[in-house]
Amino acid sequence: MPTKPGTGRNPSAKQLRAAEHVLNLNPLQRKTHPSAIQADPNKLAHINTYGSLPEYYVDQPFTCRKCGKREIWKATDQKWYYEEARGHIDAKAVECHDCRTKK
Ligand SMILES: [Zn+2]
Repeated sequence: MPTKPGTGRNPSAKQLRAAEHVLNLNPLQRKTHPSAIQADPNKLAHINTYGSLPEYYVDQPFTCRKCGKREIWKATDQKWYYEEARGHIDAKAVECHDCRTKK
């Protein structure tokens, strides 16, 4: 069954390479990259941090700590997580979708 494109759950090697490429750009290039999504500072006001708040989001490739699967935490999902779900700013994706739903 084909997976919906752009969910980041079953990224192709090409998608992973593209996301890693963006992460390796310098901060200005990353911020202005077409895949970067602007953060909304008003929606991040709930976050208490000594560090700086994100100005934008880019896709984050990561390796599941449980099963070792490579997935991408999409910029759109990060925006939703921090701004709508009010997630903690230090929270990062550490487990793949399958491992999270098994819990
Ligand atoms: Zn996993």
